[in-house]
Amino acid sequence: MQVFKFGGASVKDADGVVNLGRIVSAYRGHQLLIVVSAMGKTTNLLERLVQQYFTQADDTYDLLQQAKRYHEDIVQALFPDGNHPVYNEVANRFVEIEWILEEPPMDPYDYLYDQIVAVGELVSTTIISHYLHAIGLTTKWLDARDYILTDNTHREGRVAWEATEARIQDNLPDLLEHQLLVTQGFIGSTSENFTTTLGREGSDYSAAIFAACLGAESVTIWKDVPGVLNADPKWFDQTELIPELSYLDAIELTYYGATVIHPKTIKPLQNKNITLHVKSFIDIENGGTQIRSTKESLPVPSFIFKVNQVLISILPKDFSFIVEDNLSDIFSRFHAHKIKVNMMHNSAVSFSVSIDNTGDNVEALLLDLRSRYDIRHQIGLELITIRYYNQQTIARVLVEKEIIMELKDSYTCQLLVRKL
Ligand code: ASP
Ligand code: MG
Repeated sequence: MQVFKFGGASVKDADGVVNLGRIVSAYRGHQLLIVVSAMGKTTNLLERLVQQYFTQADDTYDLLQQAKRYHEDIVQALFPDGNHPVYNEVANRFVEIEWILEEPPMDPYDYLYDQIVAVGELVSTTIISHYLHAIGLTTKWLDARDYILTDNTHREGRVAWEATEARIQDNLPDLLEHQLLVTQGFIGSTSENFTTTLGREGSDYSAAIFAACLGAESVTIWKDVPGVLNADPKWFDQTELIPELSYLDAIELTYYGATVIHPKTIKPLQNKNITLHVKSFIDIENGGTQIRSTKESLPVPSFIFKVNQVLISILPKDFSFIVEDNLSDIFSRFHAHKIKVNMMHNSAVSFSVSIDNTGDNVEALLLDLRSRYDIRHQIGLELITIRYYNQQTIARVLVEKEIIMELKDSYTCQLLVRKL
């Protein structure tokens, strides 16, 4: 069996859903489970709705109206018969949000977030499953919350693998024999049946979870790019498609910030030796990228750019040696402020890290660190990571840039730079 994942961009309008139908129809007769995200930018919209609801702002209902109208337009374009049951089902999904909005927020933010934001995926799969049925495919809609079980960490649910595997293996192989299964990415549920989400862009991870638990032949992520490129086209004019990548290279690239696949996706597939295809939903004949266990593929230098970096240098106030005594304290402060370190370097008397400048929590971190250390910081920097670097690739990214900090190992070079 195979697992397909369709992201928000692939189903951002009625044409996108029709295109999904075309792709899936070509696999008639194959066992297939498809995992779908919320349509277009729905998750961002619902995220704003949660914020407004939590602060009891006036425009909460406007945002809800916007989300409803967006989906209604898509439904109208796909189902000319206004009596089709999909109209009611979609409306009912939004009623779940209305019920929450009727009362002032009493529950913790992250909990409310999951209950509201998950509706994006529930609505998109409701529409898509009806559409696939309408074009003649025997389709079954599944609630991913019945299968993907997590702990209680809202917004970043950690998968309870054993329970999840048992649920999936007990139920899905039989269902797959007779129909195309359609389910949601990104969402799961706690053992008490409360909705959780797996972290932004988590639908890739959902696809990997289903595939790993089912022992799938492969997963295909259908994207608006031809596959994994050696750089984001936003930064480079001439990007190259990487036809084949090892699991390790894929993990490294996502670790350093390549956004083409969610970082948690690869490991479960690698454990079960399942090939991951990244392909274009626009140019479906194009082979895309294959990620699998391979030693043969030639390394293609890849570039990952992260702008808006802050370099923080931490020095003990008494000029004592820093390393052994302070590192665990420093790391626990980063952890407490939920800040991920992108690059680090330590010397005898200072420890320097580059992090994303995400605003308030960085301010809070700096304040916290200053209570114990001397702190210097520089903003507006750019972090460039090159996997499989050489002198030429380094020269290519350093035009009109000054190096602030540099780190190299045999395969990867990280350059923290400032524009000249
Ligand atoms: N809809 C969710 C998001 O936008 C999950 C996903 O797209 O993978 O983050
Ligand atoms: Mg997405």
